[in-house]
Amino acid sequence: MKKIIGIISLIALVAMLLISCGETFVCGMCDQEKTGKKHTEEIFGEELTICDDCYEGLKALGDLAG
Ligand SMILES: [Zn+2]
Repeated sequence: MKKIIGIISLIALVAMLLISCGETFVCGMCDQEKTGKKHTEEIFGEELTICDDCYEGLKALGDLAG
């Protein structure tokens, strides 16, 4: 019985972590581990996975450049 409770709490813990943290990835621009929304952008001919913050910055730059 104790074993089953242990397994159930472990599953609950993992599920909680997955829900609260989401998927982590390393941003190709700021090089930080990020969670949440990620964007794939082609920068200098290279496809990079970047975080939401960098994506916003990139978009602002793009608007400036026209
Ligand atoms: Zn970033």
